[in-house]
Amino acid sequence: MNEILTTEQPLINSGTKIGILGGGVAGSTIALRFAELGIDTTLIEKGDSLVNGPPFCHLHAGGNLYREISEQQCITLLEQSIDTAKVFPHSVNYRPTVIALPKTDQGEVADLLPRLIKLRERYAELVQQDISNKVLGDPEQYFLLFDRKALENLAKRALPTQVKANEDWLVAFAQQVDLDKLKFPVLLVQEYGWSAFRMAAITTLAIEKLLCCHLKLNSQVVNVEHQVSTEKWRVTYKNQQDDSQQQTDFDYVINACGFKSGEIDDMLHAKRERMVEFKAAYVAHWSKCQGLWPEVVFYGERGTPNGMAQLTPYPDGYFQLHGMTQDITLFDKGLVASVEQSAQPKLSARFIKKIEQQWPEQVVNDRTVGSIEYLAQYITNFSQASVAAKPMFGAQQIPGDDATLRAADVSFHGKHYARTEIVKASSALTAADVILQNLLDVGLVSSAQVGEHLSDHYFPVTLQCSEAEVTNKAIKYARQRDYPAALAKNFMLADFMFSE
Ligand SMILES: Cc1cc2nc3c(=O)[nH]c(=O)nc-3n(C[C@H](O)[C@H](O)[C@H](O)COP(=O)(O)OP(=O)(O)OC[C@H]3O[C@@H](n4cnc5c(N)ncnc54)[C@H](O)[C@@H]3O)c2cc1C
Repeated sequence: MNEILTTEQPLINSGTKIGILGGGVAGSTIALRFAELGIDTTLIEKGDSLVNGPPFCHLHAGGNLYREISEQQCITLLEQSIDTAKVFPHSVNYRPTVIALPKTDQGEVADLLPRLIKLRERYAELVQQDISNKVLGDPEQYFLLFDRKALENLAKRALPTQVKANEDWLVAFAQQVDLDKLKFPVLLVQEYGWSAFRMAAITTLAIEKLLCCHLKLNSQVVNVEHQVSTEKWRVTYKNQQDDSQQQTDFDYVINACGFKSGEIDDMLHAKRERMVEFKAAYVAHWSKCQGLWPEVVFYGERGTPNGMAQLTPYPDGYFQLHGMTQDITLFDKGLVASVEQSAQPKLSARFIKKIEQQWPEQVVNDRTVGSIEYLAQYITNFSQASVAAKPMFGAQQIPGDDATLRAADVSFHGKHYARTEIVKASSALTAADVILQNLLDVGLVSSAQVGEHLSDHYFPVTLQCSEAEVTNKAIKYARQRDYPAALAKNFMLADFMFSE
C-alpha cells in the first residue's frame, strides 16, 4: 500500500482532521508521521520554531544512564532509540558512552552486567530480524569492558585523530581521567548523542514539504471545547504577535504540550496525575581540549552531593555538562506533582521565570562553574574550561507518581483525545504509533492509509533531508537561541559505526 504514496503527491485522506497542540519533539514527530501518510494534520505551536522545549542530548539506546529503572524500560528505550535513529539518522551524534563507577559509589560494575547482556541479546535479535536495525554498530560490541591495564596501555598511545576502532574513543579518556578515582572495569556502550537542534531542523524542513501538514507557529492554544452537535473538538488559538484569535474544528485532538499538558487537560476538566521536573544542563568551552572524547558518565546517587556527572562532547571543544546534584542539574523543589483540582503541576515562579524570561547572570555563572568543577574532580584539566553559553534547561513531565519512570508514551481520555506523555524524547515515535493505532481502532483512519504494518515507519520526505541542509538549518536555530553553532554540528560521520 505504501508504495503508491509519493512525496510530491500525498494521498488525499478520508477527511479526518487531526489537531496537534504543541510542536515539541513529540508533537512534531507525530505531525510528520501522520502527514507522511497523507493524513490532514494541523500542528499548533505557541513558540516561533519547532522542537524548542527542554533539551535532549542522549538517545538513551538501552537506558544505561539509569541504574534504577527496570530492565523492561531499558529494552523499550533501546527499541525506541533504534527506530528513532532509522527515521532521523542526521540527528544522531555517532559516538559511544563511557560509563565509569567512582570509588565513592556503592555499586559494582558486575551489578550492571546482567542487564547489559540482555540488551545485547535483544539488539542482536533485532538485527537478525531486520538488518536495517543495525544502527548501533556490531551487536557483539554493544558493550565492551576495559580493565585498568588496558586503559594504561591505551594512555601510552598517541591521540587518534580518527576513530577506527572502539578503543580509540578511550585514549583521551585514559590519558586525562584520574584512574585512581575509579573502580574497574570501565564500560563502553553504544549509546549515542542526539541533537535537539538537528531534530528542529529536520522536522521543520520535512513539514515545510508536506502539503497535508498545516503548521501554525506563534499560536497559543487558549481553549479546547467539545462540540456535542458535531462530535468535533473546537480549538481556539491566539496569535502571539497580534493577539488575534482563530478557531478550527478537529475530529481528533492530541495534547502534546509537554510540561504544560495539564493546562489543556484542565480546559477539558480531564483529571490526570502527573509530575513536572525542572532541570538544567550547562555549556562549557574547553579550548585546550585534546583528543576525541566520547560521552563520559561517572555514576552516582541522584540528588546526593555525589550524583552522576555527565560530559557530553560537541565539536570545537564545546561540552554539555550535567551533574545530578541539587547545585547543578537538579533544583530544590524542582519536582512538583498535580493535585486533585488540577492536572497541571505548579512550578514555583522562579522556575517559570527562568523558562519564560531569563536566568540571573550570577546563577548562570555559579552553576556552570560548579558543573565544570564537578567534572574536574575526575578530569583535572577540565578545570581550564569556561562558561560558554546560557544553560540548556526546561521542565519535563512524568506521568503518574513514579519519579523514576523513563519510558512512557501516551494516555487517552474520553473519545478522540490523546495526550503524549513522553519522558525521554526517543519515545516520540512510539507515541505516534500508539495514537495511529487508536485512530485505526476508532475508524478515523483506514488501514489502507496506514499500510500493512504500523511498525513499518514510512517517512520518505523526512528521509530526503540532506546532511548539509540539516546542518545549515540547525546552526541557524542554535544561533537564534543564543547557543554556539558547535552544538548543532554533526559530531562525526557514522562510517566506522556501520562498517562490517
Ligand atoms: C535538562 C534536561 C535534559 C534532558 N535530556 C534529555 C536527553 O538527553 N534525552 C532525552 O531523550 N530526553 C531528555 N530530556 C527530556 C526531553 O527534553 C523531553 O522528553 C522532551 O523535550 C519532551 O518533549 P515534548 O514534545 O513532550 O514536550 P516539549 O518539548 O516541552 O514540547 C511541548 C511544546 O508545546 C508547546 N506548548 C505548550 N503549551 C502550549 C499551548 N497552550 N499552545 C501551543 N503550544 C503550547 C511548547 O511551546 C512546546 O514547544 C531532558 C530534559 C531536561 C529538562
